[in-house]
Amino acid sequence: MKEILVDNKKKFYSKLFLYKTFLYKRVMFKSSLDDEELQGIITALNIKKKSKRIEYIYDYSCNRIDKFYKGKNMCQFKDGQCINHQYPGCNIKNGCCRICINQSETGCKTSNLSCKLFYCDNVKKNNETIKFKDMKIFKLLTFRQRIIILDNFFANREEFLKELKLGLLVYHSLMIVYRLMRSSIILRKRRTS
Ligand code: SF4
Ligand code: SF4
Repeated sequence: MKEILVDNKKKFYSKLFLYKTFLYKRVMFKSSLDDEELQGIITALNIKKKSKRIEYIYDYSCNRIDKFYKGKNMCQFKDGQCINHQYPGCNIKNGCCRICINQSETGCKTSNLSCKLFYCDNVKKNNETIKFKDMKIFKLLTFRQRIIILDNFFANREEFLKELKLGLLVYHSLMIVYRLMRSSIILRKRRTS
């Protein structure tokens, strides 16, 4: 297999749109540059099976975001209430996760990339956050896959990956509606049982 040595980050990033295509299926990328993000992208490019590459990009991105926020209480939760709901008379708990069936006593039961990239304006105005555009690895995905990442809240990891692998926006839209209906039915049942 042919090998490409990456020693110029700018040049490498400007050619990602090409490197991710089938034209580079028989090329392995290598770099000795000490750059975690670059090494992540190279690892992804060296995974030649499409579905496996998507899984890697997904898990790599989730881990990178988790690492960035580790130990930070971004939403300033106190007694189950986030900063937006800490006012007299408000009994809303669990912030954005309150209408999702993936929430549990110990937090989120899954790993959702859209949720990890989301913070409301109240949090964003006072904190440094990771934005979609900060994730260079997303350049390895198609336009439709990037659209899916923007708003795929409430999906569990497996559902999310299935949508990314299919890359069909119609299916993605139907799944959003399906999940909202599923959540409302399941949460209502939980409340009344
Ligand atoms: S992002 Fe905003 S609304 Fe959502 S849990 Fe955090 S503080 Fe609350
Ligand atoms: S999937 Fe998203 S909305 Fe649901 S519990 Fe996890 S972080 Fe919260």
